[in-house]
Amino acid sequence: MLHISDLNYEDLKQYIKKEIELDEKKTSMRVNQIWKFYYQKGFSDYNLFSNLPAELRNKLYNLLSIKRPLIKKKQISKDGTIKWLLELEDKNLVETVYIPSDTHSTLCISSQVGCTLNCKFCHTGVQPLVKNLSSNEIINQIMVAKDELDDWGEQKKINNIVYMGMGEPFYNYENIKKSVQILKDENGLNFSNKKITISTSGISPNIKKAGDEIGTYLALSLHASNDEIRNSIMPINKKYNIQDIINHCNEYAKKNNEKIFIEYVLLKDVNDSEQCAKELSKIMSKFPSKLNLIQFNPWPGVKYLPSTEEQASKFMEIIKNNGHIVTLRKSRGDDILGACGQLKTESERERRVI
Ligand code: SF4
Repeated sequence: MLHISDLNYEDLKQYIKKEIELDEKKTSMRVNQIWKFYYQKGFSDYNLFSNLPAELRNKLYNLLSIKRPLIKKKQISKDGTIKWLLELEDKNLVETVYIPSDTHSTLCISSQVGCTLNCKFCHTGVQPLVKNLSSNEIINQIMVAKDELDDWGEQKKINNIVYMGMGEPFYNYENIKKSVQILKDENGLNFSNKKITISTSGISPNIKKAGDEIGTYLALSLHASNDEIRNSIMPINKKYNIQDIINHCNEYAKKNNEKIFIEYVLLKDVNDSEQCAKELSKIMSKFPSKLNLIQFNPWPGVKYLPSTEEQASKFMEIIKNNGHIVTLRKSRGDDILGACGQLKTESERERRVI
């Protein structure tokens, strides 16, 4: 059965017009009513759609699913971070993470089950790609988090959405684009461009396309200051190298008029030398950017270690002295397996042991 969030506003209008045979004016009114009760009030049962006649509710029940995925596991960190492991209809598992802070809160959502890119430091990368998530499976992660946090009031508890969970969003481009349309629509979940960040490991052709068609904040998972190091930790660099990414990020930044966030996980004796910091500063000069340094969160079996605090500070100083904006992001939710993909991998391991 088709799911409601597999259709953006216009698609839903066309669908209702065709399937329920309403005229143009009535269709718009009905779609507004459906979206209001679904995306703004958060109802997941057509019986609660008191703004629709019973006959229409019955028709919708047989045409469009509004079911949420099952919460298979929930973990709450002592720092307030919450991770949900969700079971999709096809029994695949996907993780979503809520990260609160003093000033705002962020929901980190997944775009694929597993990942093809095999970045050596990433736990999700050791899971083979199972599938791309549909637009509905992407949006449903937000709907579940909003249910759980009782975030259906005027005052939003989730302020930012980041596509930084499992998977490479730009390898699931069309579904990401549709989900962003629903997120940005003021009749939908009503997040502005500046409240949404899509993170890519540098799928160059789609960076340019996203600049034209999606237009949110962009984060670039760079994690290395030259091709030699990047090739060794991110195999995708052999296809789209650093110069190629720089060119496309430049175009994105021009179009979007915003700085691009560079994500850089500090790995001891791999990418954290002073020479790397100098090279990274040069890359940063080539397009409007700011840097998020990330403390590495080791997972069982990984061969990398986090940089020492002293080395991380030295690295940061060099970037700052070259005139760039840099922050060091503390890893959150360490006690509930903080790094991307850990929860799902752990649950898979548990399942195999059983
Ligand atoms: S860092 Fe992102 S792109 Fe790389 S393997 Fe992990 S999930 Fe995939």
